[in-house]
Amino acid sequence: MARKKIIAGNWKMNMTPSQAVELVNTLKPLVANDDVDVVFCVPAIDIIPAMEAAKGSNIHIGAENMYFEEKGAYTGEISPAMLVDAGVKYVIIGHSERREYFAETDETVNKKVLKAFEHSLTPIICCGETLTQREQGVTIDFVRQQIKIAFLNVTAQQAASAVIAYEPIWAIGTGKVATTAQAQEVCKAIRDCIAEIYDEATAAAIRIQYGGSVSASNASELFAQADIDGGLVGGASLKPDFGQIVNY
Ligand code: PEP
Repeated sequence: MARKKIIAGNWKMNMTPSQAVELVNTLKPLVANDDVDVVFCVPAIDIIPAMEAAKGSNIHIGAENMYFEEKGAYTGEISPAMLVDAGVKYVIIGHSERREYFAETDETVNKKVLKAFEHSLTPIICCGETLTQREQGVTIDFVRQQIKIAFLNVTAQQAASAVIAYEPIWAIGTGKVATTAQAQEVCKAIRDCIAEIYDEATAAAIRIQYGGSVSASNASELFAQADIDGGLVGGASLKPDFGQIVNY
């Protein structure tokens, strides 16, 4: 069965609650496309107003992060149950900005992935190499290691429903997009890695996005690649361009 494309916006630390409502209302008619899954991953405080604004549309409101504990003395964190209660289905896990600025590691990513599945949330699991790693020729080894650790103790059934976002760090927010060949090569290597860990059926089912300076002008070529099932989009998800990306 063909994999349904999934195109997710990552708003990062942008948009106040009232701006979030305005942006959802602006983008709603532009992203009305039932052939793809459309997700807006928004700051925690925007989830509920964005969800209200998106009601009746095809937009899923997702989260940008969550903690791996159930509840308790973890000041400032958001629990999976809070997300579920708010109506969230998708949550970004292990974005490179969280790894860089908030000390997330492959191990905490794995804990979050397991916890997300425990609560029937779909994780959008981020991976990707630095420019130095690419130049050193270790991209595939590095990304395979990130994937293997992220999926430790994850069942095949859970893995089949996951989303992976391959995001070369050097392409995030830089305007420097990976070539379609580079993006396809790594997305295929990730799918092969999933086949090694699980089986061909799981690898064929899992959805793999490309992320890193996706724009209205490069989306169609990227999403046409055999192993690229959509995109994780930062900057362009805050603009009407996101409508063009969704309708690539
Ligand atoms: C991202 O934040 O995941 C991202 C890919 O950002 P941008 O599209 O702005 O490069």
